[in-house]
Amino acid sequence: MNEIDLRTSAVCNNRCIFCMERNDDLQKGGRNKKKFLTPKELIGKIKNTRGLDRKIPVFFSSGEPTVNPYLLELVKIVKNAGYENIILQSNVRRLSYIGFVRKLIESGVREFSLSVHGSNSQTHDGMTRVTGSFEQVWKGIINLIFLKRKGFKFKMGVTCVVTGINIGDLRNFFKKFFSIKEMDYVNVNTLILRGNALKYFDKLAVKYSDIVAQCRKFMAGQVNSGRTVSRPGILGLPRCIGAGLENPFSKIVVFDIGENRPSEHLTQEELFRYGKLIKCENCVYSSDCVGVQKEYVERFGDNEFRPKNK
Ligand code: SF4
Repeated sequence: MNEIDLRTSAVCNNRCIFCMERNDDLQKGGRNKKKFLTPKELIGKIKNTRGLDRKIPVFFSSGEPTVNPYLLELVKIVKNAGYENIILQSNVRRLSYIGFVRKLIESGVREFSLSVHGSNSQTHDGMTRVTGSFEQVWKGIINLIFLKRKGFKFKMGVTCVVTGINIGDLRNFFKKFFSIKEMDYVNVNTLILRGNALKYFDKLAVKYSDIVAQCRKFMAGQVNSGRTVSRPGILGLPRCIGAGLENPFSKIVVFDIGENRPSEHLTQEELFRYGKLIKCENCVYSSDCVGVQKEYVERFGDNEFRPKNK
């Protein structure tokens, strides 16, 4: 186990078409009675982490953490419990308020993991289904760059979920975000087929090998230009498809909203229902490969998956 995932908010101020956390019907119907993790609940959860290495990363995640009105207090609780590596996963919209970003850093956030899904308003807003969301993202990134230049110490990176809607923009996305020298990483995520991602899979479906091809083209362009090659990492990619690009899932302890006991120590493969094909059995990568999602194989077949035999 190497990370703690604190599900901070059951709500979000975006309506992303690919969101694995929810689908539109549930959103309308009031999915969770409990919307926000509270300081009192967090103190209980933190007690359950006694004995864990304080160096492991603690993620504020799920829904959108920045809409939780207690967020600053929650971050301080985690920091005071001795955890140093506090990471905020955010859709960046509320980070467009620089005073708020400053308070987050002062409270203990040491990394901003920014969900950005296009290089421009048309693509990003098309994915979030919120007009103006890219404009706020850009302001948020400018704020973070400004504070880094002022000497505030934190890491920042962008992660894009790749779908049939934004794959054509992927190389521009890499160009734009790798060119920001304050950006510590640029990653892409494959679709996790739950919630909206599953509901709209017909529209969103994209082959892993097409994502890999875009990444490799971007990297090849850099080789030809003589610059140091920037390598995007791809989360949720089976190793046989993009060796050297895969960014494996971690083992995590998940604390869900309203639950004081952690879920079992799960790997994200288990949590998101990834599995193995019969042909994976003799593959040398099998023990540390994420595997495949059933719905993906139903749609695209299994020809892309080529075991490296023992
Ligand atoms: S063949 Fe199966 S186990 Fe091997 S890398 Fe591909 S998906 Fe993973």
